[in-house]
Amino acid sequence: MTIGTTENPLRVAIIGAGPTGFYAADALLKNKDVVVEVDMFDRLPTPYGLVRGGVAPDHQKIKSVTKAYDRTAKKDEFRFFGHVELGKDVSVADLRNYYHQIIYSYGASSDRKLGIPGEDLIGSRTATEFVAWYNGHPDYRDYEFDLSQERVAVIGIGNVAMDVARILCRTQEELMKTDIASHALEALKNSKVKEVYVIGRRGPAQAAFTNTEIRELGELTAADAFVVPEEAQLDALSQQLLDESTDRMTKKKVEIIQSFIPNKRTDKPQALTVRFLASPVELIGDENGQLKAMRLVKNELYQSKDGSLRPRATEQFETLSVDLLFRSVGYRGLPIEGVPFNDSWGIISNDGGRVVDYETKAVITGEYAAGWIKRGPSGIIGTNKPDAVATVKLMMEDLAAGKTLTPAHPTAAEAEAFVKQQQPQYFTYEDWLKLDEAELAKGKEQGRPRVKFTKIEDMLAVKSA
Ligand code: NAP
Repeated sequence: MTIGTTENPLRVAIIGAGPTGFYAADALLKNKDVVVEVDMFDRLPTPYGLVRGGVAPDHQKIKSVTKAYDRTAKKDEFRFFGHVELGKDVSVADLRNYYHQIIYSYGASSDRKLGIPGEDLIGSRTATEFVAWYNGHPDYRDYEFDLSQERVAVIGIGNVAMDVARILCRTQEELMKTDIASHALEALKNSKVKEVYVIGRRGPAQAAFTNTEIRELGELTAADAFVVPEEAQLDALSQQLLDESTDRMTKKKVEIIQSFIPNKRTDKPQALTVRFLASPVELIGDENGQLKAMRLVKNELYQSKDGSLRPRATEQFETLSVDLLFRSVGYRGLPIEGVPFNDSWGIISNDGGRVVDYETKAVITGEYAAGWIKRGPSGIIGTNKPDAVATVKLMMEDLAAGKTLTPAHPTAAEAEAFVKQQQPQYFTYEDWLKLDEAELAKGKEQGRPRVKFTKIEDMLAVKSA
């Protein structure tokens, strides 16, 4: 029987309810020639992935993208199975029994390591866990961060590092206007953090942060922003490449960074310094294993074969006292049992979105990847839209060529019965909307945009209320 008709819809499982999952669902359901039914799975009861658990709480406007996701979710052919974990409640083999196609869009939830001595000292943490904690991710709500420390370093100068540095410097009044998790609001209220260093291994012209984000650091109400003048000046190579380039964004970025050079200490309680051309080579602890300092090496830049400027250590070292450190050097995807994985890149082994065997590169029929787990943790939320659309295009090509899975139970009713059996407490989209309403109501009571539920059991209580 032809797949993709009213009688026999194309049944697709999407794993991960973040932006990519929704963009893929939207592209699938917009299809005019093929009748598609989408079941979206997430291990959390709540949808939206990093829009809920990653985007900084003081960037509320960005979160309005979820309105578009809600429009997709309202379609009759869309179902949400929240609180259902692939690898625990259901397996890949199970999914192959119920769906013609599977898309993995579960992002990159782990982090990359620096690989230097002392990385495991008390006080050496990851930005990933701090971000998940302040955003109320249930798995991280009970983490503790020692904010009684005065000197904090953030390693890496991407936008996540910017978020972490900013949140450490926000006032309570500012945070009250956000949906930051209540436990984080409370902990940050008692924060003693006075000095924040954000440390980049390359120069201003190579910084991974975007212009809006670095500009924001210069506009904080509670912190003066600084750079080290020699580090903010471009080296000859960077200057030459920038002069020859038409990249106005980077020229502007360098301008914003250099505008911090004349800054002087004011009566603001905190100081935030963005450093360039420095790499930590060792974290130094005291006799109790508590982080106390970091040894940094000064870098110089050289042009690599691909034309980019890369850092190279010099012989110049310095020691910086810090008691708390967040490693923010990029996210990393995790494997799922039964799905080929490229461990060195931290992504599902794939060819443009088609899952392929890691060794032979042979296509695994019916399985696809999209978003960060396909290409790695790069780009902004919107970058995932064309990425998801590209994967869906391949899915349609494969469907037309008759290359799909052949599930024994290809109906919506059978899939639902199976999910119910595996995880009786699964969340539907209606359950989520009820939770959403309850969070907004709690927010209203406290004069905040939203107060998040951060415990699964509390979420379940709202569902069954
Ligand atoms: P990122 O943009 O890739 O930045 C990673 C940073 O870590 C870079 O500065 C990188 O330096 C540095 N790094 C990597 N390895 C290092 C090492 N061994 N030692 C020292 N530094 C090292 O990653 P991210 O900040 O985690 O962000 C992930 C993605 O989410 C990005 O695309 C980001 O733009 C996006 N995002 C966007 C927003 C927003 O739009 N507001 C907010 C948060 C995240 P090199 O450049 O030298 O490699």
